[in-house]
Amino acid sequence: MYDIIIVGGGPAGLTAALYARRANKSVLVIEKAVYGGQITYSPKVENIPGFIELSGNEFAEKLVDQVLAQGADTEFCEVTSIIDGDVKTVVTDSGEFTAKAVIIATGAKHRMLGLDREEQFVGNGVSFCAVCDGAFYKDKVVGVVGGGNSALQEALLLSDLAQKVYVFQNLDYFTGEAKLVEQLTAKANVEIHLGCVVTKMHGEDELDGVTVNEKGEEKKFDLDGLFVAIGLIPQNDAFSNVLNLNAWGYADVDESCRAQTKGIFVAGDCRSKKIRQVATAASDGAIAALAACDYVDGK
Ligand SMILES: Cc1cc2nc3c(=O)[nH]c(=O)nc-3n(C[C@H](O)[C@H](O)[C@H](O)COP(=O)(O)OP(=O)(O)OC[C@H]3O[C@@H](n4cnc5c(N)ncnc54)[C@H](O)[C@@H]3O)c2cc1C
Repeated sequence: MYDIIIVGGGPAGLTAALYARRANKSVLVIEKAVYGGQITYSPKVENIPGFIELSGNEFAEKLVDQVLAQGADTEFCEVTSIIDGDVKTVVTDSGEFTAKAVIIATGAKHRMLGLDREEQFVGNGVSFCAVCDGAFYKDKVVGVVGGGNSALQEALLLSDLAQKVYVFQNLDYFTGEAKLVEQLTAKANVEIHLGCVVTKMHGEDELDGVTVNEKGEEKKFDLDGLFVAIGLIPQNDAFSNVLNLNAWGYADVDESCRAQTKGIFVAGDCRSKKIRQVATAASDGAIAALAACDYVDGK
């Protein structure tokens, strides 16, 4: 039996492993896809403290090396459920593991448009994060898909960097705050297309444009980048028996990242919070790990 099992090997889970190992706890990190999580999609990251610039993969490698050097165990499989009890049973698609405490750090997936070759263009012209990638489109032409607060904020941020910003929203109105809509419509370099659905992505290795259907009419736009802001999907479904999920599926936790079930902790993008970045995921990881260590020690 482990002291702590961590579900998810992204920045939150790996930082949690680091802190838990430094506190001398036995730790297993279970990852289903790629160590490093979402950041591995990013070819260039410039806002991780301590690095002027590095790729998401380079960052992930450094973090994994650091965690392995501290002696954490790892398993590559998918956690399908957690059975609660004084001892927690973590059920995976290749066996069961037990621990005194579990940290859920399963992150979130960006909702995608579902278009051909979209996956291939992620990091090659398609982005989900203007805070992260906006600077790469200085003086370029970009599109933003969506009409909620995230899309409006992405478009506003990009309008201060890019030469031109097209906003494509499928509904005939924005669903985000009126104040943001007001700010966006006042921008001279922003062109808004309502009732407009992106139907095709163009480009060889990198995206260079999209086709949209605007109220029945097909139009093509040449773009250097496309920011898709149509929502996130937290990866919490399998854990609804031990988590208190809000209306959007994010886990509500207290400021020490403790879930409503004793011995269960949540860190990173899968919990309810405002800012979802590497720095905030790592912060959660440290907080959750230290709270889990206290729990294991009976404090
Ligand atoms: C294209 C892109 C660019 C970005 N650029 C930046 C940037 O420049 N700067 C920045 O600070 N942030 C950036 N972000 C955001 C940043 O990557 C996230 O905020 C951060 O990765 C969140 O970390 P996390 O550990 O909470 O979740 P994640 O990174 O999502 O990691 C969660 C991990 O859990 C695994 N997992 C999920 N479910 C299970 C399961 N059931 N069993 C086992 N494993 C599971 C997943 O496979 C994943 O590896 C970017 C995101 C994207 C998509």
